[in-house]
Amino acid sequence: MALRIIRTIGDEVLTKKAKEVKSVNDRTRELIDDMVDTMNDANGVGLAAPQVGVMKRIVVINVTDDPEGTIVLINPQILESDGEQTGNEGCLSVPGKVGIVTRPEHVVVSFRDRDFNEQTMEAEGLLARAVCHELDHLEGKLYVDLVEGELMDVDRGDEEEEQETP
Ligand code: ZN
Repeated sequence: MALRIIRTIGDEVLTKKAKEVKSVNDRTRELIDDMVDTMNDANGVGLAAPQVGVMKRIVVINVTDDPEGTIVLINPQILESDGEQTGNEGCLSVPGKVGIVTRPEHVVVSFRDRDFNEQTMEAEGLLARAVCHELDHLEGKLYVDLVEGELMDVDRGDEEEEQETP
């Protein structure tokens, strides 16, 4: 298990567009494994490669409590999105904060898996929110620019401390 350092807001790497992955090799797989370890260690539900300083279009997501629930998305693209959900969102790169963001309720995503095979996935609810959040990272965008109202402190004394953090 290898943990990578999560870059935080203010680091310019988070504002840059990530590059398409052309093929998967041992280094790519090591990066993916490290990203999963880093996400789990930080109790996150998603992590994009730029958050650990690697400008590649790779995202890992797990909105479940089960390690088997880990999803690896390489070169992901949203093909369809519909519906709307409004709720709290956080980010491992913006520690201690949450804000209200509206996202599609349902998305269809094409991507390559860790064996670089083409796949398509449907996502709704929290998974759809995580997909949209992580894909924004690949474009150099942070959720703080989408927040409706104020960015809030997680520690402000209520149950939101348990907020899941994509
Ligand atoms: Zn994030």
